Amino acid sequence: MSIVQVALDVPVDELFDYDEGALQVPVGGLVAVPFGRRRAVGITLRRVAHSKLPADRLRSVERILPVTPLPKETLALARFCSDYYRFPLGQVLAATLPTALRRPSFRLPSSFSRYRLTPLGHSIDSEALPQRAVSARRLLIAFKRGGCLTSLQTRSVTSRSAALLREWVQAGWIAREEDMSDGEPAPPDAQMPSQEPALTAAQQQAVEQIASSFRSYSPWLLEGITGSGKTEVYLQLAAQVCARGEQALLLVPEINLTPQLESRLKRRFPTVQIVSLHSGLNESERLVRWIRASRGEAQLVLGTRLAVFTPMPRLGLVIVDEEHDASYKQQEGVRYHARDVAVLLARERQVPIVLGSATPSLEAVLNARKGRFGHLMLSERPLASLPSIQIVDTAKGTPPDPLPSSVLAALERRLERREQSLVFINRRGYAPVLLCRACGWSAPCPRCAARLTLHLGERALRCHYCGHRASIHASCPDCGNQDLRGLGHGTQRLEEWLAGRFPQARILRVDSDTTRRKHSFSRMREQIHEESVDILVGTQMLAKGHDFPKLTLVIVVGADLMLYSTDFRAPERLYQQLTQVAGRAGRSKLTGEVLVLTQFPQHPLYEALLRHDFAGFAQGQLIERERSGFPPFVHQVMLRAESTSEKTVVAFVSAAARAAAPLAEGVTVYDAVPAPMPRLAGRYRWQLLVQSTSRAALQRFLAGWQERLRAGRSSAVRWALDVDPIDA
Ligand code: ADP
Ligand code: ZN
Ligand code: ZN
Repeated sequence: MSIVQVALDVPVDELFDYDEGALQVPVGGLVAVPFGRRRAVGITLRRVAHSKLPADRLRSVERILPVTPLPKETLALARFCSDYYRFPLGQVLAATLPTALRRPSFRLPSSFSRYRLTPLGHSIDSEALPQRAVSARRLLIAFKRGGCLTSLQTRSVTSRSAALLREWVQAGWIAREEDMSDGEPAPPDAQMPSQEPALTAAQQQAVEQIASSFRSYSPWLLEGITGSGKTEVYLQLAAQVCARGEQALLLVPEINLTPQLESRLKRRFPTVQIVSLHSGLNESERLVRWIRASRGEAQLVLGTRLAVFTPMPRLGLVIVDEEHDASYKQQEGVRYHARDVAVLLARERQVPIVLGSATPSLEAVLNARKGRFGHLMLSERPLASLPSIQIVDTAKGTPPDPLPSSVLAALERRLERREQSLVFINRRGYAPVLLCRACGWSAPCPRCAARLTLHLGERALRCHYCGHRASIHASCPDCGNQDLRGLGHGTQRLEEWLAGRFPQARILRVDSDTTRRKHSFSRMREQIHEESVDILVGTQMLAKGHDFPKLTLVIVVGADLMLYSTDFRAPERLYQQLTQVAGRAGRSKLTGEVLVLTQFPQHPLYEALLRHDFAGFAQGQLIERERSGFPPFVHQVMLRAESTSEKTVVAFVSAAARAAAPLAEGVTVYDAVPAPMPRLAGRYRWQLLVQSTSRAALQRFLAGWQERLRAGRSSAVRWALDVDPIDA
């Protein structure tokens, strides 16, 4: 009897033994097994001679799911994530699979079916079919010649294949079988479309250096100012990878960026199979694309963070665009960082990896400085010049208007020239609140330690953290004053105000409220491209990656709020954000202008920004981080806990601190503190930071600590370990 050990999607760190019976279960194979009273899908991790379970309690594998087994590299990557991020292996693996593959009754979609002629089918003479039935005759002849055809092949014989296949299966002429073979690798294609445009010398050098490291693990930081042609470098490398018959994985931070990159890839590589994988797909779309990637058919796989786990048998190159972006960090479940996992993937597979950014993370900068990453720079824009950045001092006098007159004049000029402007609001902490000017009261969220945000459009107050909705108060509940007003300028108020100032302008607001409906964001992008918009008012969403040729003016409002944040990463984030949003201006022949409104024009961050001196800024930040003992010079883990009862959560984190003390060798355990957002959706939140200069010491500590935390678990507390947290 042979026993297989299977990882299941359950919150315990163990494997489960099953009898494989007569089935030949491959390692990496997905199997349907009985588990308790239900059936579940598990991943076979090994095969052993004996089980510790008594024979009468050992249950059997029911079936092997009809998909290619996960390759050992994918298993190794999942195991690493499980160990490093302290999350059960079975749950890590389950999280990486398309939902359809987590169903015991899974069947391959019919597009992956193969049809074989039965003896009955063989006995039919194609001449015996009616003369008119041309398609049927043709298909039958093709079957007789090949014996077995994939549904894709039948489609190339006749457009009526789907109907004929159905009829013939019913008639018993053919039988359907699931096609488990690896897909046809696309043949190496020497005739990849021409290299347009001609690369600049810096781009050429980057492409050559990276290409010289094909077939080996070799990490590169590609630091290039916005619009310097990083994407062009990716495209040229991707072309070479496809020409070699290999696959490239291209990660982007945000789902909103996939359509435009996807269409750019498709235009450039019309004959290459490209699939994009992101959270906006429905279950079957995701499944089909995942299978195409995992069979090696799709040559370019474009996706958001989860795509890093897609098995790709012919992987030749990994690219992480905007590597500094916080969206690469998964904030629940397995709290992995897709950029870090991508580096591991490249090492595991011995392929080069390119991390691209205009404002690399300090982690990447440090790695480049230490020589762990090769460092390539693109410091010029091939098409346009860099936008000119100006600081607008708003400290002197507090004008009642959200934008000073010099800024309005700049907007006016764009309207006259029929160019586009973007007013960018850093909404973090800058939403309008309902304020009583008599006593200072402002509407709080009853469930969170946050203020409610005023939404004029829906005439309501809303909590941006938990979604709580309340109607707008008629008077102040504290002092009875009836003159309650919005304070601060959210996108909505600014949009209204601008409409008042520029009644002739076409204004479009782009934020998470206006783009919630599916496709609305892409429709807005089209509107912008069609130039049916003059002024854009938007948040972070518009800052990233988009290319709007007519946009020549960017106005940044509310940046200061991040300058003096308590989060040590705030300056890094602010610099990244400002660079990105500034990069939206003047990407074509038209020169761009960026106006940053601030009360602190002398701040070193703004001075570096004016000089386009990211290197200088990063250097300053690294010195500060090293001096104060912050990442990337130390490694951190955050224990996050929450409960509806404050007493319970405090007791839990206190016990966690006590349990940590005797284990803390080479690590520093800080005091438990309330989270920056101490109450969210009715739950009290506390956290406890542990850090060390040694990753190994931290990992050793975590192993012991996690065990104790689990042993003392209380169902009234939800907790998680966040390894390499990126938020305080
Ligand atoms: P990034 O990814 O660094 O923001 P892109 O690759 O999107 O930059 O390039 C910015 C613009 O410059 C695009 O319109 C692109 O087509 C163009 N471009 C890039 N490289 C070249 C080049 N070598 N010659 C001419 N145009 C280029
Ligand atoms: Zn009041
Ligand atoms: Zn709330």
